Amino acid sequence: MTDFSDQYLMTIDGKSVGASRQLESFNPATKEAFARFPDASREQLDEAVESARKAFRIWSGAPLADRQHAVAAIGEAIAENAEDLMALLTREQGKPRAGAEWEILGSAAWCAEIAKQSLPDELVEETDDRRVITRFSPLGVVGGITPWNFPVLLAIWKIAPALVTGNCIVVKPSPFTPLCTLKLGELCQSILPPGVFNVVSGGDDLGKWMTAHPGINKIAFTGHTDTGKHVMRSAADNLKRLTLELGGNDPAIVLPDVDPEALAPELFWGAFQNNAQFCNSIKRVYIHEDVYDEVRDALIEFAKGIRIGNGADQDTDLGPIQNLPQFEKVNEYIDDCAANGYTFALGGKVDQGAKGWFIPVTLVDDPPEDSRIVAEEPFGPILPLLKWSDEEDVIQRANDTRYGLGASVWGRDQEAVQRIGSQLDAGTVWLNEIHQYSPYQAFGGHKESGIGCENSLHGLMEYTNWHTITLNKSWGKDDSK
Ligand code: NAD
Repeated sequence: MTDFSDQYLMTIDGKSVGASRQLESFNPATKEAFARFPDASREQLDEAVESARKAFRIWSGAPLADRQHAVAAIGEAIAENAEDLMALLTREQGKPRAGAEWEILGSAAWCAEIAKQSLPDELVEETDDRRVITRFSPLGVVGGITPWNFPVLLAIWKIAPALVTGNCIVVKPSPFTPLCTLKLGELCQSILPPGVFNVVSGGDDLGKWMTAHPGINKIAFTGHTDTGKHVMRSAADNLKRLTLELGGNDPAIVLPDVDPEALAPELFWGAFQNNAQFCNSIKRVYIHEDVYDEVRDALIEFAKGIRIGNGADQDTDLGPIQNLPQFEKVNEYIDDCAANGYTFALGGKVDQGAKGWFIPVTLVDDPPEDSRIVAEEPFGPILPLLKWSDEEDVIQRANDTRYGLGASVWGRDQEAVQRIGSQLDAGTVWLNEIHQYSPYQAFGGHKESGIGCENSLHGLMEYTNWHTITLNKSWGKDDSK
């Protein structure tokens, strides 16, 4: 068991280390600074990368079964320390117990499943004369950069495949939620050889140093689309491999044959899970005009029963916004709706004097298609409801965005649901369900929602180089040659 005292240290070359400068962590439900964590220097990043490069020489050649076993052991360590990790996650991120449980136990389960995956050599050709195989060789050192909404799960989505495929990794959590990841680094010190998994913490500059670092071969990044573009530019210097998991503006399309009462909880949690700080949240709901009023009213009724508060309180359903800049950003969207005279079907009034960064569930009643609240990603609990009548038109509106992360379609007419779903330009399209993920299911974005994917064998492959080896079996056998 790891010491869950309030001391937070980085893991570099298998050891816990501090830094000469410290940053503060805030509890978003109280706005109080409750912990300090290291602000890594550039030299400390160099040390982490150097130790990962050194470890790579051994780790990349370790038997697959050993690497799989180590990843499974990380999952077991997370499960053993789940209570402490969940409490810490709620404190630093704000999410209530149910969300913390989903993320921490999900991370443990993810390790167990990714540990079963592998990429065997592909036999391309085998004749008496020639043999051609393609191997999936590890890249070297991966830099994992994560956001503040699901800090543990999104780190595991990078750590587990990187290690199974024989890479070493340096992870940098968001400065808003570094603590669980730092503890994860400590937990893994007794599981992995020094240097295989390093955790460094600090501000955004640390991320920039990583993307430009010549000793890092790949960046696995989850975050904002605009940051992803910076990452891509900077990674070009040594042609780092990239997986970019970026923003979304996921549409949900509701057909006229739904049961509004049955649909309301699905739509609500699809949109407001994790307080809507979720790349894959429903961010626009297109409701057929025949059922628009009924679905809107059922959503309002359901939302009225939701309790917002400190995630540490047992009866809280939705916690606070995770950080002050994000709180200000969501306020801006609410102000923009008010200034433009859009109608709030619910919410729209923020108590600026509240103890934490709380925002009420806010529903905007049929704003214009080109309004900011429809066209942009607010990443907070404000959701536009829109009307549609023509199928072709609603598909065009749903796809009319720079994003293409997820989408959902809801209706009893399965044929119509599938017909519409198949025309939506998004990495994941859910039909009559939402937010079903799996370690065996490729997850990634189209358009400006990302490049590449995580999870499944496709995701695993992104941590490897194709390594084609051909053998001419007859060369040298015939004396005449
Ligand atoms: P962000 O882009 O601000 O930060 C993400 C990470 O990048 C942080 O660790 C940050 O310190 C680091 N960073 C910042 N500037 C950097 C730079 N120039 N170079 C390298 N690293 C840098 O994102 P955020 O606010 O933490 O997260 C919210 C965003 O993440 C939303 O847009 C959301 O949709 C997206 N997101 C996407 C997915 C997905 O899988 N597609 C999942 C979760 C969140």
